[in-house]
Amino acid sequence: MRRESSNNEYTQPQKREAGKGLADARHGNSVDAAMRGHWRDTASRPFTKAQRSSTTIWMTGFTTNHDAFFCAAARGLGYNMEALPVPDNQALNIGKEYGNRGQCNPTYYTVGNLVRALRDLEARGHTRESLIQNFVFLTAGACGPCRFGMYATEYRKALREAGYEGFRIEQLFPAGLVDGSNAPAGGIEFDRPLVMAISKGLLSADILNLLGNRIRPYEIEKGATNSAMENCRLLVIDALENGRPVKPALRKCRELLGAVAVDRLQPKPMVSIIGEIWAMTTEGDGNYRLFSFLEKEGAEISTQPLYTLLLFLLWEQKHDLELRRHLRGEDRARRGLAGTNPWKKMAVLRGLEQIIKSTIHSLARAAGLSQLHLPDIENLAALSRKHYDLEVRGGEAFMEVGKFMDIAQNKRAHLVLSIKPFGCLPSSAVSDGVQSLTTAQNPEAAFYAIETTGDGQASVHSRVQMMLFKAHQRAQSEFEAALTVAGMSLGEAQQRLARHRKYGSALYYPRHVVATTGANLVTDLSAGRLGRLHHVP
Ligand code: SF4
Repeated sequence: MRRESSNNEYTQPQKREAGKGLADARHGNSVDAAMRGHWRDTASRPFTKAQRSSTTIWMTGFTTNHDAFFCAAARGLGYNMEALPVPDNQALNIGKEYGNRGQCNPTYYTVGNLVRALRDLEARGHTRESLIQNFVFLTAGACGPCRFGMYATEYRKALREAGYEGFRIEQLFPAGLVDGSNAPAGGIEFDRPLVMAISKGLLSADILNLLGNRIRPYEIEKGATNSAMENCRLLVIDALENGRPVKPALRKCRELLGAVAVDRLQPKPMVSIIGEIWAMTTEGDGNYRLFSFLEKEGAEISTQPLYTLLLFLLWEQKHDLELRRHLRGEDRARRGLAGTNPWKKMAVLRGLEQIIKSTIHSLARAAGLSQLHLPDIENLAALSRKHYDLEVRGGEAFMEVGKFMDIAQNKRAHLVLSIKPFGCLPSSAVSDGVQSLTTAQNPEAAFYAIETTGDGQASVHSRVQMMLFKAHQRAQSEFEAALTVAGMSLGEAQQRLARHRKYGSALYYPRHVVATTGANLVTDLSAGRLGRLHHVP
């Protein structure tokens, strides 16, 4: 790592160790000698429990609903937590000004957003000292293997350069927990109540976002879905903030969203968005505002809920546990099984997975999200293992490849957009390399990898428009084929829909046959299917 003008994060013993290690290495005393001086990041000032009531915790990084519900859940447990706005290109430029070169752009967007928020408060009369004293930023952390492992360090460096030295960065999954260097000091306690409240908030956001994707493209009155969604957001925030269960709030959302008038008897192309977690999730300039752009261009989008990542993380744990179980000797590594009962560990992981899945289903039922099929990570692993080593980790690991193959083979989308920050190691360097093979093997599925840089939005949009043209044609053919198979004209399908009003509801989602939702609705409206559906209790 390049050292910048200030190296205040090195302690004296670390500097001595680093110097000794490098000197040994220069004299040919083995790589081990160089490693002895391995550099470690240390947290700045601790954020303690006593400071909790006087400290504002900022966070951002997911969709508007996710950020809002995360913060509301924390506020319900006594934390002063607020979401920063979704980062835009102004934030990116500020981040680039103060960050190291060669970072992934989520770093620049995030830290630029943070610096801008601090400057705004300073302009409104807060002193720098009070901001450093009374605010912290909460971010996800990791130990790599890609540049994600350096995010918190990069944030501290950029903040220092911007004049906010000592501003505290707290990590959601602190890598330093392992060695104690970044161990939280009690300011934020990720105990059971907080984890449960946040999880329910994040899962509710997933469900509302999925409902929004299904309803917005077909709304008859423009903006009706977003305004219903705004009210839903307030209802869920109110429940979380006041420590009440979220299901009653989601039931009210069901009424609000169910009241949006829709017309699904139209051929809209389905565009599936996969890629690097931040780039495919953010709703701002970080992915060229692709979600709203695609919907404006007449597409229905399928985005990745956060629970897919959660289920993947559990899959990783189970997979690694299974491999460790078959080692010849006792495994005394950090996550080794020496002295533990692997069966018990596996039972806990499986139990956790079941709890997560049943919570998702129960929240989805409350909100009226039907036809929800949770991702089968084992299946994604099986699909991709021939092309992507399951032991290669980082980012979405094998999931991008698995998701594309699943989408292509099951006709889930007409176009797959894989979005990632420029130069993303797991996504551009590995997955996209593999996708050149998988896309050749599945030529009927259109695939386009987009590397985001913050620049060139017009050319990315124009390329996507070109690909959408073909996707529109395919949606049209599927729609016409469905009408032919059903033996109906569009007018007859509309009449039948008017007679069976349930199928015209915003919350009714036809069963998957092809990628075009309108074609699936025609199939559901066909005489044979209608007869069967009427017998469904
Ligand atoms: S997944 Fe990609 S964009 Fe994200 S930190 Fe790693 S290399 Fe950077």
